Amino acid sequence: MGKVKTGTVCSVKGCDEKATRSVSAEKAREGLQAAGAAFEDEQPRRLYLCQKHYKLYKKQTKQDKKVDKWRYGA
Ligand SMILES: [Zn+2]
Repeated sequence: MGKVKTGTVCSVKGCDEKATRSVSAEKAREGLQAAGAAFEDEQPRRLYLCQKHYKLYKKQTKQDKKVDKWRYGA
């Protein structure tokens, strides 16, 4: 889990909260898009999330873990 530079804002589209966590873009996009969050089309390898979206991300990744395994053949 990476540290976030002060002044970085959340990567979720339309959210300008201060980012507190950086997460793997691959995982975060899946989880958060399932939860209804949108991102800009062009994405770096990492996403920066505010507290609210980080919680959402954690919740989603927990729920989706089993499903992801068969859905994506991981
Ligand atoms: Zn946010």
